[in-house]
Amino acid sequence: MLEIKDLHKSFGSHEVLKGLDLSVQQGDVVAVLGPSGSGKTTLLRCLNFLETAQSGTMNFDGDLFNLKYITKKEIASVRKKTAFVFQNYNLFRNKTALQNVTEGLIIARKLSKKEALEKGMYALDKVGLSAKYDAYPHQLSGGQQQRVAIARALASDPEIIYFDEPTSALDPTLIGEVLSVMRKLAEEGMTMLVVTHEMNFARNVSNKVIFMMDGEIIETKTAKDFFNNPEQACIKTFLRTYL
Ligand code: ADP
Repeated sequence: MLEIKDLHKSFGSHEVLKGLDLSVQQGDVVAVLGPSGSGKTTLLRCLNFLETAQSGTMNFDGDLFNLKYITKKEIASVRKKTAFVFQNYNLFRNKTALQNVTEGLIIARKLSKKEALEKGMYALDKVGLSAKYDAYPHQLSGGQQQRVAIARALASDPEIIYFDEPTSALDPTLIGEVLSVMRKLAEEGMTMLVVTHEMNFARNVSNKVIFMMDGEIIETKTAKDFFNNPEQACIKTFLRTYL
């Protein structure tokens, strides 16, 4: 479904991504792990064109794009098939949960209000927020706000959802509800690429692990292999810290 080749990204003279290759098949749940500063967020931002790469190619559903010279039209065509869940939810403060989910469907996807409402309610039901359609973000816990953000992602019928540390801003007591929604999506076959420090999620829900270090992917393995047979010393150290 998604194949990235030789992705380079620098900020000034600082090379943050040093030629990454990765591929995601339909139904994959890929956990992107690695120490802080290794380039995980920058990778996600390049995949969703929030940053422009210095070089690299993206093959999405058989369409090939040069990441340096990609046009706005091409970006729009890929974004139609993807959704992004941010660390800090990025909800509109002055809109209800349902309005947060339907806004993009009405404005960007040009759905009728009725269709958008139906999709919005369905998505909120799916993340367990049927009772909160009319709640504003400040009336919701962090976990509920992140579930609204996941509902917003789902409502656009994406082929893949990118998650950038979706639980790292949450109080520990609220992490479980977000992870269990993500687990349910994974079980239903949603393709997901998840930057996370939640090793239990990576171990038990993802099928593939990518480990990043200093701007490079130094390991790509099945989750089982990654956790059961770590070979590289720096990965063993990392696992000792986080497991
Ligand atoms: P991670 O998500 O693994 O913690 P990041 O992708 O956030 O890593 O950051 C990788 C490196 O890129 C860090 O050294 C960070 O300081 C640098 N970086 C990230 N964004 C920017 C930016 N907008 N400008 C300059 N440097 C940046």
